[in-house]
Amino acid sequence: MGLLKYHETPVQEIHDPLLDSFGLRLLVKREDLNHPFVSGNKWWKLKYNLTEAKKLGKKKILTFGGAYSNHIYATAAAAKETGFESVGIIRGEETQPLNSTLAFAKEQGMHLHYVSRETYRNKTDEKFIDDLRTIFGDFYVIPECGTNALAVKGCEELGNKILSEIDFDVVCLPVGTGGTMAGLINGLGGKKEVLGFSVLKGGEFLEKEVARFLTVEGKQSPCWAIKTDYHFGGYGKKTLGLENFIMAQRASHHLALDEVYTGKMFFGIYDLISQSNIKRGSTVLGIHTGGLRDNSTQ
Ligand SMILES: *Cc1c(COP(=O)(O)O)cnc(C)c1O
Repeated sequence: MGLLKYHETPVQEIHDPLLDSFGLRLLVKREDLNHPFVSGNKWWKLKYNLTEAKKLGKKKILTFGGAYSNHIYATAAAAKETGFESVGIIRGEETQPLNSTLAFAKEQGMHLHYVSRETYRNKTDEKFIDDLRTIFGDFYVIPECGTNALAVKGCEELGNKILSEIDFDVVCLPVGTGGTMAGLINGLGGKKEVLGFSVLKGGEFLEKEVARFLTVEGKQSPCWAIKTDYHFGGYGKKTLGLENFIMAQRASHHLALDEVYTGKMFFGIYDLISQSNIKRGSTVLGIHTGGLRDNSTQ
């Protein structure tokens, strides 16, 4: 199945008195375990992009990200595994020593090219990308965060997979750009409810972003929504409450969550449940989209 190795992942049931008192089951699809380095949704988002790059005969992948980007981390490892050279266009100045994300990417052979925040804003301009071609030669471009039609196609497959393997009513996931969510909605074809949790402040625009990538099947899906109240101050921001929640999940359920994405989503799931916003008798499936690294101490 594709170029990247995939490890089958378990479904973990969370046992908690809160869930019992609301008559709910909570399952976690542990996609964070699908690959040691290209984990979670990034595996699904990269899958068809790598296939396409191979098909086009490209030797090099070029992509964009911030200094802590999970996408940069995953792309560097995926490129190495599948025999591509890789270039990461990194927002901002180089700071030494490299943080663990960039150190890892470099170790995987990714060439890191730093550009100012101002220049970085041109990341989708054709002229800017052409200029990069004069520096780096021919390459296959994957946009920032990896979201494009082929990424959505990969996530659609994840939707098919959970639909055929797991019995649930509502599936929840964190939302950054919305690419993963769009793919899931497409793959579930309206048969299940999909609930996204924006990790960005002002995430109201994300519904449009998701809708942009829906197929005809997905467009007919009546039952999806994005919750915008669980950003904890914005992308990468956190509160003591969020940190405590993450620590408690780890201690009680051996469930490791990250602060940027999955912690916020699970906090949101518990909050909706405790406000009786999820129908009694439902089985809720949270997708663990990854985001944790062995060396995440930074
Ligand atoms: C990148 C990422 C997301 C966001 O995915 P989108 O497709 O951009 O919405 C969610 N969770 C984790 C762990 C991620 O690394």
